Amino acid sequence: MSERIQKILEKEDWNRNDLIQLLNATGEQQQDLFKKAHEIKEKYVGLKTYYRGLVEFSNYCYKNCYYCGIRAGNKNVERYDLTDEQILEAVQFAHQNKYASVVFQGGERDDKEFIERIENILYKAKALTNNEIGITLSLGEQTLETYQRWFEAGAHRYLLRIETTNKELFYKIHPQNRKHNFERRIQALYDLKRSGYQTGTGVMIALPFQTTEHLADDLLFFKNFDVDMVGMGPYIEHKETPLYEFKDALIPLKDRFYLSLRMIAILRILMKDINIAAATALQAIDPIGREKAVKAGANVIMPNITPTINRTNYQLYENKPCIDEGADDCTTCLEARITIAGDTVAYGEWGDSPHFKNRTKKAEDIKP
Ligand code: SAM
Ligand code: SF4
Repeated sequence: MSERIQKILEKEDWNRNDLIQLLNATGEQQQDLFKKAHEIKEKYVGLKTYYRGLVEFSNYCYKNCYYCGIRAGNKNVERYDLTDEQILEAVQFAHQNKYASVVFQGGERDDKEFIERIENILYKAKALTNNEIGITLSLGEQTLETYQRWFEAGAHRYLLRIETTNKELFYKIHPQNRKHNFERRIQALYDLKRSGYQTGTGVMIALPFQTTEHLADDLLFFKNFDVDMVGMGPYIEHKETPLYEFKDALIPLKDRFYLSLRMIAILRILMKDINIAAATALQAIDPIGREKAVKAGANVIMPNITPTINRTNYQLYENKPCIDEGADDCTTCLEARITIAGDTVAYGEWGDSPHFKNRTKKAEDIKP
């Protein structure tokens, strides 16, 4: 084991410089990092992978993030909205296959009709499954009141990626206006915590203009904000987006992939008991990318259970995997690959973030 990395891996606390060195690890040093992350995973959260059935229920979005293929400004996208029946069918599929949890993800909207519709679907999904299905939402920035309503209706985890914690970079990848505002996004994360959700965030890795210093700061942000879960993965360019202009400044896909794995491994050691998702974008680069992430410390995978017919229209980036496979096809070999990666699939378990339980218990303990 290289001495320099060994010394850092043995330290109790890491400073920004340590994180930068770990982010730059290559070869044997990188393997040492992955090995340590795997040990920590086994000790603190167990060698288990939890499934969250991903329902990409709509690609209508009123925002214009510069990196995203389904941004409002992309007129080439055929827009769709799954019907309530289709969404509930997907929920039933997850429940019957013992996935235990689903994620409802979609473009961002904040109109009354949308808010009410989500609320109703949440109640229906809970009723359909005897309250057994766990529900994560990933529906962007909403008001505190909306977050509370959806929590009341049965959602208990929420994923809102900050995308980058560097304000300057944030405005290089988003317009700067009422709908895209850095402080507002941070506030939304606080509102989620306040509403009682297990709160998740994350970033895109290897964005144009992004440095390892930025990524080290992202990791410190996760720690300081005390997140319960993180979903982060490589940025992958999409031709029909403004950020495509900078494609020549990007590092090769393979390097983006390994940088993402190092982010996951470092985070597992930094925040031992949180849930870390193996992002689908990893699979777009390497067919067994998510399983490699599982070996490097991730413990959540989100198999896509969106009806196949709609998947081609939810293209956030190029080469998005599994767009022509049904939910069954995707899951048949997934379990075998996870087993090869050394984990067992935790069927029928919600797999709540132990960190959430520990942090809320701590808060209870110090109440007068
Ligand atoms: N609209 C919601 C939001 O933005 O929070 C949820 C859906 S959005 C499609 C989910 C995530 O997709 C975003 O947080 C972003 O990180 C990721 N994403 C979008 N475009 C991407 C790209 N080109 N490469 C990698 N990830 C991308
Ligand atoms: Fe809309 Fe989310 Fe894509 Fe931004 S990342 S354009 S909010 S779907």
